[in-house]
Amino acid sequence: PEMARRVADLAVDVRDFPQPGIVFKDLTPLFASGPDFAATIDAIVEHYGADSFDVVAGIEARGFMIASAVAYAAGVGVVPVRKVGKLPRKTLRETYALEYGEATLELHTDSFTPGQRVLVVDDVLATGGTAEASLSLVEQAGGVVTGFTVLLELAFLEGRKRLKPRTVHALLTV
Ligand code: IMP
Repeated sequence: PEMARRVADLAVDVRDFPQPGIVFKDLTPLFASGPDFAATIDAIVEHYGADSFDVVAGIEARGFMIASAVAYAAGVGVVPVRKVGKLPRKTLRETYALEYGEATLELHTDSFTPGQRVLVVDDVLATGGTAEASLSLVEQAGGVVTGFTVLLELAFLEGRKRLKPRTVHALLTV
């Protein structure tokens, strides 16, 4: 409840971004506030327990900021799930539908040792397409998904349903 309040207080609603009719939740003020960012990271590590995952995977680009801090706090490494064309070595790819068009994410094939426990991190869960593709990539690469965590979940878009049977942790659900 304490963390939910911090996220709610610092999230800024931006109308008509990136397209008319969309209300974008901007979390950059939360990232920019030292005490609030630290509390956010600590809350994620405490929720899972630092011993429950071996590595953190962050989804480009805002997921990288959270994933890196969580990994550092837990004393583990961080792995990037990237937009297509950015990773230099052999990758796995997943393409998923967006409201208009499609998007492709990539992960290095050798990102994990078999059975490595992976905590997957992003900033916002909306329709769940990004998360579904990312979790699938982690699993294809031999990782075992310990959890998927976001700062903010937009429940009306029902992304959580799409990710079943995996569970989702959100600091704030609206
Ligand atoms: P989804 O694939 O529809 O769940 O969209 C989630 C992805 O889009 C995440 O990587 C988010 O960073 C981004 N995203 C979608 N909606 C928002 C928003 O309102 N604020 C910030 N990021 C968003």
